[in-house]
Amino acid sequence: MSPERARTDVLVIGAGIVGALIGRELAGRGHGVVLLDPEPGRGASIGNAGLLVPSFTRPMAAPSTWWEGVRGMTGENPLISIGSMSPAVLTWLARFTVAARPGRAGRIAARLVAPARAAADAYAGLAAETGIDLGLAREGWLQAARSPAVLRRKAVLARTLAKEGVDYEVLARDDLRAQEPELDPGLAGAVFFPGDSSLDPAATTRAALAAAEERGAVVRRTRVNGLVRRHGEVAAVRTGLGEFSATTYVLATGAGRLGGRGVQPGWGWSVDLPAMRNPISTPMIGLDDHVVFNPLRGRIRITGGMRIGGTPSARDDHPAATAIRQAAERLVPALRDLPAGSIVRAARPMTPDGLPRVARTGRNLIVATGHGTLGMTLAPATAVTVARLVGSEDRREEVLW
Ligand SMILES: Cc1cc2nc3c(=O)[nH]c(=O)nc-3n(C[C@H](O)[C@H](O)[C@H](O)COP(=O)(O)OP(=O)(O)OC[C@H]3O[C@@H](n4cnc5c(N)ncnc54)[C@H](O)[C@@H]3O)c2cc1C
Repeated sequence: MSPERARTDVLVIGAGIVGALIGRELAGRGHGVVLLDPEPGRGASIGNAGLLVPSFTRPMAAPSTWWEGVRGMTGENPLISIGSMSPAVLTWLARFTVAARPGRAGRIAARLVAPARAAADAYAGLAAETGIDLGLAREGWLQAARSPAVLRRKAVLARTLAKEGVDYEVLARDDLRAQEPELDPGLAGAVFFPGDSSLDPAATTRAALAAAEERGAVVRRTRVNGLVRRHGEVAAVRTGLGEFSATTYVLATGAGRLGGRGVQPGWGWSVDLPAMRNPISTPMIGLDDHVVFNPLRGRIRITGGMRIGGTPSARDDHPAATAIRQAAERLVPALRDLPAGSIVRAARPMTPDGLPRVARTGRNLIVATGHGTLGMTLAPATAVTVARLVGSEDRREEVLW
């Protein structure tokens, strides 16, 4: 099919979890959809921890995390760092500092809880539609603390989210050991969030793409190098395969450059350790050690790292994976018996204030990026929001998140 002959109502640029679910939603509503991506489904959408977490909607831009970031800049924590001092990163950091003022994080979390809570049902629907096993487990998430002070702080934050309908239970040291006997006995306890879920992110992104295609969307493997603007609107996009045009354009490029100036990559790493028998059964985060565990079939995925800006290379992968594994082994000593696993480096699309950018930014241009640490969790809600925007007669700029 040549670009000229395609009947295209909507061009979706970027086919990670966000673009793929947007494509599926729009195709399901009868729009002619083309997705453009040089490597569909290979961005952060396969390199993430795979947790659907209404309990984790509090953005990074909060007073406590700001201090964490400052310590990261001084090199105190190898997994939290600033990857570049470019003007764009410095501007991002200045905006992050403003957004981190007291009181604001709670208000943002409150806005994100409802869309986050809808995610598990949406992915169950995707599994049923495609027949693909997403590894969806609706068994909750443990946020484990090494120090009693961190546990107390987490319990206070959990109480504020409970007002938005996020259930929780504080587990003291012995209760935690009873639930997960392989954990380090030195942990102070955990807050358990029974409403959180987990899945296999690669299988899920594959299913989202398959469903989009099954509903009639066309996926073209090509990078968009620029937008052609005429008479105040987007007339076409330039690619190695030629120009593509459509009535409406949706930018879902994650942390890619086209995503917008306000978005910086927040680099992280995931390591899959093959495991015949998983040493833990509940997904978990170590709050003091900043490492996330997702027990999947035949392997356990451990993830961590937050490097804002810059572009790490393959040389950075081994040290990052080693630091993540060491942190993970402190929490779950039985991991020491598992063989080395595969490493994926991926960039979260980070906005300074932690709110995704889902907005009409031009007469026929919609942006859907900036999902930060919550892209798997919020993508289903974003897809519905974008479909509503595409269908709306109102051409004025509208910011939805
Ligand atoms: C280590 C780590 C752990 C995470 N854990 C979780 C978690 O547990 N739960 C959660 O909800 N979220 C998590 N996230 C965040 C989540 O992965 C992201 O927010 C989400 O994947 C963003 O989806 P996306 O589709 O916007 O971007 P991506 O998945 O990065 O997809 C963007 C796509 O756009 C394409 N693209 C870029 N530029 C162009 C261009 N010029 N032309 C065409 N195509 C282009 C890319 O090839 C890519 O396929 C984590 C992220 C990381 C890195």
